[in-house]
Amino acid sequence: MISKRIVLKFPSKLVDKPIVYKLVKDFNLVFNILRARVTPEEEGELVIELNGEKHDYAEGIKYLQNLGVKIQPLSQDITRDEKRCTHCGACITICPTGALYMDKDTMKIIFDAERCIACELCVKGCPPRAMKVKF
Ligand code: SF4
Ligand code: SF4
Repeated sequence: MISKRIVLKFPSKLVDKPIVYKLVKDFNLVFNILRARVTPEEEGELVIELNGEKHDYAEGIKYLQNLGVKIQPLSQDITRDEKRCTHCGACITICPTGALYMDKDTMKIIFDAERCIACELCVKGCPPRAMKVKF
């Protein structure tokens, strides 16, 4: 079994198609939608967690790619500009997943991209604007 969090970008012609449903029905994948939105260009954007057998996951991804869906790992979405971060700690209480936390030894704020669900709450909440969305 594997579990991966990925960002799917749908061209406008696919936005209203039951693509995620097909992942469940035809590829036995279980999904959890972490975020969904339609961009001003009418593209669909979905952040999902996909769980399933390795082979099913690979086939499901192939199916999406053949349809023209762009796929990228979630960890690429939110980044921190290390030069801007002042380690003020304001983001710790904002982050719902514990992806931003204090290292008690160094008193520095750590960003763990693996735990990030790209909710973007820290982007607005960071005073020096160190947290950034990369799409
Ligand atoms: S709120 Fe911004 S500046 Fe403060 S610790 Fe978090 S990322 Fe760094
Ligand atoms: S985007 Fe959300 S989950 Fe990711 S670090 Fe910021 S607050 Fe935490």
